[in-house]
Amino acid sequence: MEAEKPTTMLCTVLAIDHTDFSYRVCSVCERTLPDNPTSLCKFCSVNAFNPRFSRSKRLFRLLMSIASDTKVFTVICFDRAAKVLFGCSADEFFDFAKFHPFAAVNVSRILEGEMFKMTLSKPKNGNAQHLRAVQVIPLRSGFQPAIVTLRELYGVRSS
Ligand SMILES: [Zn+2]
Repeated sequence: MEAEKPTTMLCTVLAIDHTDFSYRVCSVCERTLPDNPTSLCKFCSVNAFNPRFSRSKRLFRLLMSIASDTKVFTVICFDRAAKVLFGCSADEFFDFAKFHPFAAVNVSRILEGEMFKMTLSKPKNGNAQHLRAVQVIPLRSGFQPAIVTLRELYGVRSS
């Protein structure tokens, strides 16, 4: 796809990389942090005397294989769009997955084959290799976010 403008198309999810759904960022400035849970943001830790600062949170970053009517793409889906698929925050999902084995694998199974209207854009950063799915709209009227199906699957009541 050579177009510079974002393109909207109907796509089917073929596969989701379930090995790595999210990454840690500083909760203040959203800079990416190392995966080590004890590491804190160098830029915000000057405020470390205040425990509200220097916290971390997780954001979604999904690598997906999708098919349009003519092509198969690999796209990357960041937090805002991924929340539509998951129906929860990356932190909530991360906590859920800690206590529910195979939750990540099951998410890919749940979402595979679903059709979406996706807006794909070329990353501004020329080094980024994948298109970004900036907007994701489920097409099936009975679509429910993955976390809802997961809770049913694992017999968990939503709080
Ligand atoms: Zn920070």
